Parts: sequence; C-alpha cells; structure tokens
Amino acid sequence: MSSKHQSPRQSLNASPLPEPKPTKSIVASKVPTNADANVIIKDLRHNYLGVEQVTRLYDKDGKVNSNVRIDFTSIKLANAALSKGYVLIDGKQCPVRTYQPPFCHRCHTEGHYASNCSQKPLTEQRLRDLFQQQQQ
Ligand SMILES: [Zn+2]
Repeated sequence: MSSKHQSPRQSLNASPLPEPKPTKSIVASKVPTNADANVIIKDLRHNYLGVEQVTRLYDKDGKVNSNVRIDFTSIKLANAALSKGYVLIDGKQCPVRTYQPPFCHRCHTEGHYASNCSQKPLTEQRLRDLFQQQQQ
C-alpha cells in the first residue's frame, strides 16, 4: 500500500502557497475575552521587549474572540516571544503563532478575505462590458 511514485522534484515545482513570511506580528490565543487591549499591552510590556501594539481580533460577525494580535518593533523580538511557544497574559500561558495577514483569493491582495472584498467580481458579463468599452 505504499506509493513510491512521488518524486521530490514535483513537490518543489508544485508549491501554490508561498512560504510564511517572517513577520513582526504574532497571534496569541486563549486570551480572556474580557481583557482590555490596554491592560494586555501593559502586561506584555512588563515581560517582553519591543511590544509595539496589541489588537483584539474579531470574528466575522464582529464578536470579540480569544485571539490577540501582538506587534513587535522587530522580527527578532517577535521570534523571541514565539520561541517560547506562549506569552504570559494576566498570569496565563497563551499559545502564540506567527501572524499571517488575511489573503483575498478574489483580488489577490493581503489585508482582507474574499468575503470582505470590495472589488467587484470579474464575471463574464463584466468582461464583455469591458471589452465593448474598449471597442468604442
Ligand atoms: Zn479582495
């Protein structure tokens, strides 16, 4: 039942997703939802160097969730916090991971998801319209 057909070369060519970029931002999870960002940042600055900004993250329906984005002043300092696997917030160990900005598959830019995309979908009808405009 083992398939030895896979060649390592193919996996090199077919890499649709780019490598995660090193970033100055991390995401801490399991943060108490009632904790204020200002309180969290005070707490973090007590224990970590280079904490620049703390942003609470929200669900799609606008509800606050247990994730908090932490921006550091440098990638090095962000990695230092990441290397421990958690940050201490309010005495609790909150697991951390690299923050990846949302990526829109509709207009292929970072910063938002396709569900929040402000670009109009490029439908066949719109393509025809654009084509006709160019003909006039
Ligand atoms: Zn978009």
